[in-house]
Amino acid sequence: MEKPIKKNDHFEIEIIDIGSDGEGVGKINDFIVFVPLAVAGDHVEIEIIKAKRSFGYGKIIRMITPSPIRDTPRCRVASECGGCQLQHIMYSEQLKWKTKKVKEALTRIGGLQDIEVADTIGMINPFNYRNKVQYPVHKEKGKIKIGFFAPRSHRIITTDGCVIQDSRNEQIIELVKTFLTQYDISIYSGEKHTGLVRQLVIKTAFHTQEAMVCLLINGDILPHQEKLIELLQKVEGLTSIILNHNSNKANAAICSKTTIIYGKDAIIDTIGDLKFKISSLSFFQVNPVQMEILYDKVLEFADLTGTETVWDAYCGIGTISLLLAQKAKKVYGVEMIAEAIENAKENAELNGITNTEFYTGRAEDVIPEMYKEGVRAEVIVVDPPRKGCDAKLLETLIEMSPSKIVYVSCDPATLARDVAYLTQEGYKVDKVQPVDMFPHTVHVETVVKLSK
Ligand code: SAH
Repeated sequence: MEKPIKKNDHFEIEIIDIGSDGEGVGKINDFIVFVPLAVAGDHVEIEIIKAKRSFGYGKIIRMITPSPIRDTPRCRVASECGGCQLQHIMYSEQLKWKTKKVKEALTRIGGLQDIEVADTIGMINPFNYRNKVQYPVHKEKGKIKIGFFAPRSHRIITTDGCVIQDSRNEQIIELVKTFLTQYDISIYSGEKHTGLVRQLVIKTAFHTQEAMVCLLINGDILPHQEKLIELLQKVEGLTSIILNHNSNKANAAICSKTTIIYGKDAIIDTIGDLKFKISSLSFFQVNPVQMEILYDKVLEFADLTGTETVWDAYCGIGTISLLLAQKAKKVYGVEMIAEAIENAKENAELNGITNTEFYTGRAEDVIPEMYKEGVRAEVIVVDPPRKGCDAKLLETLIEMSPSKIVYVSCDPATLARDVAYLTQEGYKVDKVQPVDMFPHTVHVETVVKLSK
């Protein structure tokens, strides 16, 4: 097809869809154009900013008629910050879009026709839901900035109150900034690989309101740390301050070398009657309200009678494992991060649960090894990271042949790939339930029940 567009051209178009990154999608004579911040139903004038061979990008120059599904974002930097991609769309429409996203992935990538996907379960109040945040700390033109990266950039966007985070975060940011400025603490520069402070990580517990502040630093000590401790006493619920030492140039992720400079090594939160210890390094679902809905679905789909042996693969700190253990004969959990497994064991003990066993390692190594040693499960729960399950794990699942597999996924594309494999090997999809763990973002969590 002859390319009908070139850079700087102007067009008046209808936006007909919302793409996988939340951008508007329109057509110019069947030629696809992506328009960031446009919404299905908008009638807009756009300017072409990039023309590729088979698609282009445009930006809104003038709004002719806004879509009826538009909403006014609560956050003043919603359109600049990379955190929320859908805040300008009505929440009920975000949920519909997520259901469609899951269904399309299962159909297109998974080749599963006529699949029924239940409506995405949303939040009653889809704000201030997150219990964890990781802010980069930068110095720009002599000023300390703590915020979020703009999309595809290392420019920091600051907010004066992120509407999806815990409301204490803004106070913590201000106190940390005051400390860094007053005591002239150096800020890390990625280009030069010099300076100390790289990131501020905050974890909060929804039910107990405990809070952990963690500074990621390029070094061993934080000068004047006692002053930071003193300042942070103002934060309600503060139970721990931790230094995470990471001098790796390429990878700024939180790593395993930590020093506790105040309080406890972990915060405690609850799910139903169960208590959970969450350390700085352990994964915990970021939306505690939706987490309970998600876990209820996992339990419903696992449908345990009390006689089963169950595997919880990618178990984190053992949240799903302990919930399952209350209804099963025996639950085995496996997780790659050693600190999370330590938490899982402590959590079992904390709750007086004795029918669990936890292993540190990769699910694709541990489950096949244990299978060789004779460990068989009738029900298997998998909750992998975005890349989905390793092929070796899936092969072992087929060999072990559990009557039910409950697949918890944070990426519809890899979910579709893995479910396609399982259905080719004799499983059928009974239920698909998306849960909105991440309102205002393009992410969606899905629980799938498969049976033999
Ligand atoms: N089920 C848990 C955690 C899910 S997040 C919960 O609901 O809280 C996914 C977890 O998988 C993370 O804790 C991550 O550390 C772990 N992980 C990632 N790759 C893994 C692998 N190959 N084998 C085992 N665990 C892995």
